[in-house]
Amino acid sequence: MSILKILYYPNKKLKKKANLVYKIDRNINKIINDMFETMYLANGIGLAATQVNINKCIVVIDISKKRNQQLILINPKIIKKFGKIIMEESCLSIPNISAPVIRSEKIILQSLDYYGKQFELHAESLLSVCIQHEIDHLNGLLFIDRLSLSKKNYIKNIIARNL
Ligand SMILES: [Zn+2]
Repeated sequence: MSILKILYYPNKKLKKKANLVYKIDRNINKIINDMFETMYLANGIGLAATQVNINKCIVVIDISKKRNQQLILINPKIIKKFGKIIMEESCLSIPNISAPVIRSEKIILQSLDYYGKQFELHAESLLSVCIQHEIDHLNGLLFIDRLSLSKKNYIKNIIARNL
């Protein structure tokens, strides 16, 4: 396995829309394993392929404290959303910044697994928020894009000062 390089905001590659995965082979499995290794090393709970400059619809997630509950999403699609939730979010691509974001509280999702088999998942609270955050990455969206313009500009200024 190898550690992948994480892209940081304002890298324009983070705005790219990811392509669907049509064939799940050893190459895709290696990307997934590398993404988990990279995410664990960075102490993240989720990582989208877009963040490591791989233009494919792949997400890895592990919200467990013991770091032993891996969730792999390939070509994930949210088919239903319920309710609203506000959680403080952060992102491996925007270090040292966090802000409350409004998202759907519960979601129903369709995705392919590590072997290319389709499955359906019902997620709520932190897992639901994490999945929505990562799917946003696949669409070229960052959590700061979901904030009010004034809040986003405030954060942009902080980041610009620290670059
Ligand atoms: Zn993120």
